[in-house]
Amino acid sequence: MSDPQSIEAVTVCRLCKHVIALTGLSVPIVGERPEDRATRYVAALRDHINRRHPQQAAYIEGMKKWTGEFIVIECYGTEDAVLQKGREYARAILHEMTRKNRLSDSDLKEGLARFGKTTEEIDALMPVAKYLRDFLSEQGEFQHPAVKHAEAQRAALQPD
Ligand SMILES: [Zn+2]
Repeated sequence: MSDPQSIEAVTVCRLCKHVIALTGLSVPIVGERPEDRATRYVAALRDHINRRHPQQAAYIEGMKKWTGEFIVIECYGTEDAVLQKGREYARAILHEMTRKNRLSDSDLKEGLARFGKTTEEIDALMPVAKYLRDFLSEQGEFQHPAVKHAEAQRAALQPD
């Protein structure tokens, strides 16, 4: 288990595998709130991205713009089709980026087996389980076209 006071110990750039050593930033300043230290830390991580990975930095700037616009539009009810389309575009991408749980077909089968279902019952239930997974997680037939485009962009930027 990592030490919560030593966040840099587990921080590795996914783009270049560089271990970000921020010794000075790991030392709390007297009176500093933990979130202030985290802010300094993220700023240093951002500096690495800006210096070493300009394409990723541009992607982040684009996402910041979209996210800000999404939050503004969310403050309004609108019938404007362009705003609605933009809101849905940003919402779909943010949903995909922030979704914590991912279920593969084998995860679904394991989940059904935990409820004591037989292999035959699992095979019969799989289409329903897949449909519900895809509906709730907005993937497969329910995936917004913007998500596929954003995934291709991210894949091109991140070798992982
Ligand atoms: Zn890097």
